[in-house]
Amino acid sequence: MKRLLLTLTATVALALLGGCEQHDSLARIESRGELIVVSRFSPTTYYQDKSGPTGFEYALAGLLAQELELELTIKPAFSLDGVFEHLQRQEADFAAAGLTLTEKRQATYPHSKGYYRLKPQVVYVAGTYKPRKVEDLVGMSIVVLAGSSHAQTLSALRQEGYPDLQWREISEVDSMELLELVNAGEAELAIIDSNEFDVQQSLYPRLKVAFDLGQEQDMVWYLPPTTDNERLLQRIDQFIARLQSDGTLEKMREEYFGHSQGVSRIGSHTFTRNMHKSLPPYRKLIKQVAAEYQLDWHLLAAIAYQESHWDPQAASPTGVRGMMMLTLPTAREMGVKDRLDPAQSLRGGARYLKNIKRRLPNDIYEPDRTWMALAAYNIGMGHLEDARVITERHGGDPHLWQDVMTHLPLLQKSKHYQNTRHGYARGKEAATYVQNIRHYYSILEWQDIQQNKVLPPLRAQDYLPAALSNLSLRAL
Ligand code: GLU
Repeated sequence: MKRLLLTLTATVALALLGGCEQHDSLARIESRGELIVVSRFSPTTYYQDKSGPTGFEYALAGLLAQELELELTIKPAFSLDGVFEHLQRQEADFAAAGLTLTEKRQATYPHSKGYYRLKPQVVYVAGTYKPRKVEDLVGMSIVVLAGSSHAQTLSALRQEGYPDLQWREISEVDSMELLELVNAGEAELAIIDSNEFDVQQSLYPRLKVAFDLGQEQDMVWYLPPTTDNERLLQRIDQFIARLQSDGTLEKMREEYFGHSQGVSRIGSHTFTRNMHKSLPPYRKLIKQVAAEYQLDWHLLAAIAYQESHWDPQAASPTGVRGMMMLTLPTAREMGVKDRLDPAQSLRGGARYLKNIKRRLPNDIYEPDRTWMALAAYNIGMGHLEDARVITERHGGDPHLWQDVMTHLPLLQKSKHYQNTRHGYARGKEAATYVQNIRHYYSILEWQDIQQNKVLPPLRAQDYLPAALSNLSLRAL
């Protein structure tokens, strides 16, 4: 009897414990089958490219969702404060948004282990006054993201002996906005994270790091400020520890923040060198495919260079592959079976480009038609359409590449992309993509003109009638 009672008590206790677990955050997530993560649109966290959603945080949260056998839903926030508001309102299970661990934040929000180390950096325009230490910042115009860890650092510095320190807080999600302001001369300095600067710098070759503002910091995931997060937090920390020890995190860091990422703005001399070294084996094939699709082969070659540097084995972390860096769905649609086969890849890319060109409105004429098709090749038709709508709203001509190009970067600003059909896109990168191709295209054409031009006679007498030639020789 006593034994039975004991067993019963134990069972009841277990059931109660189990019952408690049912109500913690991990149990709720598991029963809904969906992991809801708040993030922000930025090249270092979460964004859409032609292969769909991507970014370091997106990939990391995706791995956790996969491990827990859950669907991943990303809720985008439009500012850093917005990220934390989602947590306050418990609208997300955690925030994965390139967030630095700060004292102020950790007083309110539980956080994971650090999964990335970054340095806050002071960025300036090369050739202008370069500050070297905190006291040099006093009197300079500084911009930071509103609600950022950098704003908190500056506040602390102001209290700790630099009362005259001034800065402006910009209410955007992406630090590119800050670089834009510095580049345009509207601010002297921006303070942003090292990983963000590494990824974005290629777009702003004039900008340089002046100095690191303080020590390396941890990037963490923050959880809602509730008391039932313990198991979820444990699970996340185990996950991060495992990715750290098996090398996955290191690999992902390299993939998403390594220097190969971002827009490659290789100088013309590198291009010319590659043109002599890597292009020759593919020149004939590129010419043949271009002829099949009635494209200028210089254009096809320029695209292939921008995409892969004429490397048929090229691959990116977002899953695009081959000489024309096709996504799997595009390759399928274009009938490409093996993306690593240069002939198939070139044909797939050429067909895709032709398709896009055909679908563009009839009243866009050459050469703008080609440049717009290239932009759509890079970010997708929908985003190009949005950029054209924005161009028109701003009084520009949506039929002219020049006008559309200057408005494409607005797809990265929440004020503008919130009113579009397809939302955020890396418009600046698309504009650079097209301009790079145009640049390579012109070098290739120029090179061809050079090679095909009729050379001047080497010796005048070869072209003179024999009698005259003899005469002149004798005269000498
Ligand atoms: N890591 C920063 C933060 O946690 C955001 C990115 C930036 O401002 O560079 O606030």
